[in-house]
Amino acid sequence: MNPWWEGLAVFGVGACIGSFLNVCILRWPLGLSIVRPASRCQACGVKIPGFLNLPILGWILLRGRARCCGAHLDWRYPVVELFTATILAALWFLYPPKLFVAYAFLAAGLIVASGIDFDHLVIPDGLTLGGVILGISASYLLPQLQERADPTDAMIRSAVSAALGGSILYLLAKTASWFLQKEAMGTGDAKLLAALGSFLGWTALPWILAVSSLFGTCVGVIMILQRKQKLGVKIPYGPYLAMAVLLWLLGGKAWIAKYLLNNLSSQIPN
Ligand SMILES: [Zn+2]
Repeated sequence: MNPWWEGLAVFGVGACIGSFLNVCILRWPLGLSIVRPASRCQACGVKIPGFLNLPILGWILLRGRARCCGAHLDWRYPVVELFTATILAALWFLYPPKLFVAYAFLAAGLIVASGIDFDHLVIPDGLTLGGVILGISASYLLPQLQERADPTDAMIRSAVSAALGGSILYLLAKTASWFLQKEAMGTGDAKLLAALGSFLGWTALPWILAVSSLFGTCVGVIMILQRKQKLGVKIPYGPYLAMAVLLWLLGGKAWIAKYLLNNLSSQIPN
């Protein structure tokens, strides 16, 4: 077990990374640079001084209002910062350093993909197809990602898993669109599942599909009952895929492995 102060340090760095992810969510879909210019007030364009740019704390100090013009600051900024920090600290405690780095990249990409999907109902190819390339390369450099010892084996498993994930969701989306006679799901979700397969391997796909559709259905039904969502209107699916993957990393994988092991060993007579 890593000492607690390491987790605290990862939490602090994670909050800063979360702050950067907010910038990515805001600027990436608009085609703006994510490094320049420095942060400006969304409402009046005044440059934000460094000390108010502190993740989480800045928002609390300002009580959710811009110092320059009093404009309302979206609560989503501190939530993304807090969420990123918490997830990264949890991953730090669960995985050895190299796997942690790979999963931290994956989690960060998923948070950005979810935010953009929420706002614009698309996930940029740079994130999804870029993620596939990153996943396959990472599997070669770190074969443990695919539970293999040989880099080439791991890379092949990663590529096969990406193709499998992408084609399953592509076929599901096409079938659903055919039934509903309109586009039910974007191809961005299929590309995202391909990227997830490339990082996590094909054995994670049943969990991701089952858990994400369960969450999606529950939230969809609640929203329809509250009349906030009409039947047949496209909903962002990326956030549900992201949620399923984070649950997989935070314990789902270990739980399934234990469950399968128990059931298999009980069927083998001693
Ligand atoms: Zn302002």
